[in-house]
Amino acid sequence: MRGSSDPLLLLIALALACAPSGDGDADLILTNGRVYTLDAARPWAEAVAIAGGEFTFVGSTADALAHRGPDTEVRDLEGRMAMPGIYDVHVHPVLGGTEVLLQCLFPPTAGPAEIEETLSACVAADPDAAWIEGGRWTSNFFVDHEIGSPREWLDRFSGGVAISLADDTGHNRWVNSKALELAGIDGATDVEGGEVVLDEQTGEPNGLLLEAAMYPVFQAIPEKTAEQFLRAARESIRTANGFGIVGLKEAGDEGTGVAAYKALADEGALTVHMAASIAIPLVPGTLDLDVDALARLREENRAANLDVDHVKIFLDGVPSIARTAAMLDDYEPEVPGGPSHNGELLVPPEALNAWLQQLDALGVTVNIHTAGDRSVRVALDAIEYAREENGDSGLMHQLAHTGFVAVEDVPRFAELGAIADMSPAIWYPSLISDSIRAAIGDRADRSWPVRELLEAGAHVIVGSDWPAVIPDMNPWPGMEALVTRADPWGGYPGTLAPEQAVTLEEAIELYTLAGARLLGVEPRAGTIAAGKSADLIVLDRNLFEVPIEDVSDTTVELTLYAGEIVHEK
Ligand SMILES: [Zn+2]
Repeated sequence: MRGSSDPLLLLIALALACAPSGDGDADLILTNGRVYTLDAARPWAEAVAIAGGEFTFVGSTADALAHRGPDTEVRDLEGRMAMPGIYDVHVHPVLGGTEVLLQCLFPPTAGPAEIEETLSACVAADPDAAWIEGGRWTSNFFVDHEIGSPREWLDRFSGGVAISLADDTGHNRWVNSKALELAGIDGATDVEGGEVVLDEQTGEPNGLLLEAAMYPVFQAIPEKTAEQFLRAARESIRTANGFGIVGLKEAGDEGTGVAAYKALADEGALTVHMAASIAIPLVPGTLDLDVDALARLREENRAANLDVDHVKIFLDGVPSIARTAAMLDDYEPEVPGGPSHNGELLVPPEALNAWLQQLDALGVTVNIHTAGDRSVRVALDAIEYAREENGDSGLMHQLAHTGFVAVEDVPRFAELGAIADMSPAIWYPSLISDSIRAAIGDRADRSWPVRELLEAGAHVIVGSDWPAVIPDMNPWPGMEALVTRADPWGGYPGTLAPEQAVTLEEAIELYTLAGARLLGVEPRAGTIAAGKSADLIVLDRNLFEVPIEDVSDTTVELTLYAGEIVHEK
């Protein structure tokens, strides 16, 4: 007690507390590597020294070893490539984690036999379960396999279990009769912003629920527990570190998932730089922002490496054959010569403008789901409105899934400081790009205009959007496909809008530094340079020395987050 009031002792105590370790000795030195730094001043190095969670030296092996002390660990990289850690800045880690831990999953490529086998096994494993959730089917599935009633197809083997299966976009559900019964959906059910698809002959629901029509099902499924969410978050952070990921942005969560990240942060287990978008809280029955609820969520969940000053807004659906994204021009008609439409905005532009202005003034960064070129335009208009009203707040408002952007809107991203969120990682031919082409025709030729946006000075970022669309957070197939615009698994022939390809150097920057900037951690993370957070990954191959087609197979041997080993193979 006496010591704490003694100025000299206090100074000594402070000096000791501030010293990283020993006499500035490194905690860890990595030698003999091929270290790609993304630091313009020194693009490549051989070695790094790390102390107190930061890089204290970047350069040659000989000079790095000068930082060695009696307790320093030295690791020889034996010529392997190292680089800054990966950022996945459009992802749903808790949702994905709960799917991995609790759901009945099959790949979007699965045929009827495989789906029936998978689901039958899940039913047999837990015949008393009230619900089985799972997925992922593609919207072409029922057409391709001539399944007239998706509902009856499931009823054949589901017994008394209610089944709800997500599609590959996460926007739609395929359910059986029991699920419709428990959710209280029948042929007369009308859900604003969604469609209960009806059987043309009987007028009864055929088992497909589009967009908001799936919400009654969500309400009927028992809530998951906080303990389940925490397990899911823990599992996802562990998996992310294993893929070399050191930065994540949760793309939209009601608050339960965010609380799980907060719980992990409090126990020191949130081993990533993290931001989380909270689903916009509205005063029930109105389009008014619930300012108090938002303030409470921000206050309760913030932590040192968890930034919760973000909000998610859904402005539209998907431009696949569900035809729910808001497009500038009409979709291809479902039957040749038949009627068509251009999708729907889920929020009136005036309300969006007001939210943007209000949230921007509150210091909240907005992430707007804009899968169609009309929703992109309306979102850019709203950001422009906020900038006019508030001045430039510097907040990096983000447009999610900017797969389709009108040519005249491309320069607006740089002008407005709006972020083009290139997600999900499907910028290559796939079942999904087929479904999109069926709905929008030749406009698919300009899918995912990464090159155009970069050349126009836009801040582009990338994310997996897991668990929507792709099976995991593995960034390496997405990185390869940014360069090749071809299926990284070689399953689908051809390329998708190959003139939108970027170089490998650009792809690496999109997956690292661009993400760090979005999270606002760039001044102290995102590159390998002295004074930066020691986030680094060691790869099993040199990306610049293998054929580009081998980049997707990259595995990460070591992941450091803030100097701590969080994954090791
Ligand atoms: Zn998403």
